[in-house]
Amino acid sequence: MSIALQTSGETGHELPSQPVISVLDLHKYYELGETRVHALRGLSVEVTRGEFVAVMGASGSGKSTFMNILGCLDRPSSGRYYLNGTDVSSLDKRELAAIRNRHIGFVFQGFNLLARTTALENVELPTLYANLNKHQRAQAAEEALVMVGLADRSKHFPSQLSGGQQQRVAIARALVNHPAILLADEPTGNLDSRTAVEVIEILQKLNDRGLTIVLVTHEPDIAQFAKRSILFRDGKIRRDELNQECPRAADILQNMPQIDDEP
Ligand code: ADP
Ligand code: MG
Repeated sequence: MSIALQTSGETGHELPSQPVISVLDLHKYYELGETRVHALRGLSVEVTRGEFVAVMGASGSGKSTFMNILGCLDRPSSGRYYLNGTDVSSLDKRELAAIRNRHIGFVFQGFNLLARTTALENVELPTLYANLNKHQRAQAAEEALVMVGLADRSKHFPSQLSGGQQQRVAIARALVNHPAILLADEPTGNLDSRTAVEVIEILQKLNDRGLTIVLVTHEPDIAQFAKRSILFRDGKIRRDELNQECPRAADILQNMPQIDDEP
C-alpha cells in the first residue's frame, strides 16, 4: 500500500481547513483472558493544524489508549483514524511504524532516554531512519536541542541532567523529524510544579510556531495552558470546549518560586 501523507510542519502546502487528526467512532477493546475491557466507546473528534489540546479525565477513562492510537502505537478495534487526510486505521504494524517515525512526536511521563548516551545522541536516534547523512543528522539534533533551550547540554548524559532537562531532551527527540503532531501523555507527571510549567512554556512556544499538540494531563493547573480542553469519561468524550483564558506559562513562571534543580 502506498502511503501518501502530506508533509508536515512549515511547508504550508496543506489546505488550511483540513484536520490533522480526524477520528470517527473509535472503539478499542482489550481482551484479558475471559474479560473484555471496552476502553474506547465510540469516540469522534477532530484536531486542526495549530491547535493545542489538553485531554483530561480520571484514571482509566481511556486517555492513554486514545493517545497510543493517535500515535500509531496501537490500532483501534473499529472506527476510522485519518492522519493528515490519510486513513491510517487499517495499516499494518510496519506501515504504522513508518508513519509514526515521520509524522508523530511522542513524549511520555517517563523520559525514556538511553542512559549511556548523550543528550545529542538521544535526540539524534529517530533520524537514523530519515534520509540524512551523519552531518545532517547531528545538525537536526542540535537544532532540536536549541528549540528546547538545551544547546549547552548536548554532551551531558541523562544522569547529569535534572528531570525537567531530561523531559526537554525527550521533547527535542520527539521534534527532530519535524512531526505533524506532538503527542504528550502526562509529560509533567514526574515533575515538580515549577518544572512542569517550564515544560509547558516550551510546548506553548512550539505551538506558537505552528506545531499541533495533544497533551494528556489530569491536572487542571496544567490543562489551563492549552487552547482547548477535552474531558474523557468511560471511554467517551464528555466535554469539549475552548479555554477562554489561556495564561502564558512564561508569565506564570515569573511569580513562581525558583527551585535550583541543576544537578
Ligand atoms: P487512562 O490513560 O485514562 O488512565 P487507559 O487508556 O490507560 O486510561 O485505560 C483505559 C482502560 O483500558 C482501563 O480500564 C485500563 O485498565 C484498560 N487497559 C489499558 N491498557 C490495557 C491493556 N494493555 N490491556 C488490558 N486493558 C488495558
Ligand atoms: Mg494514562
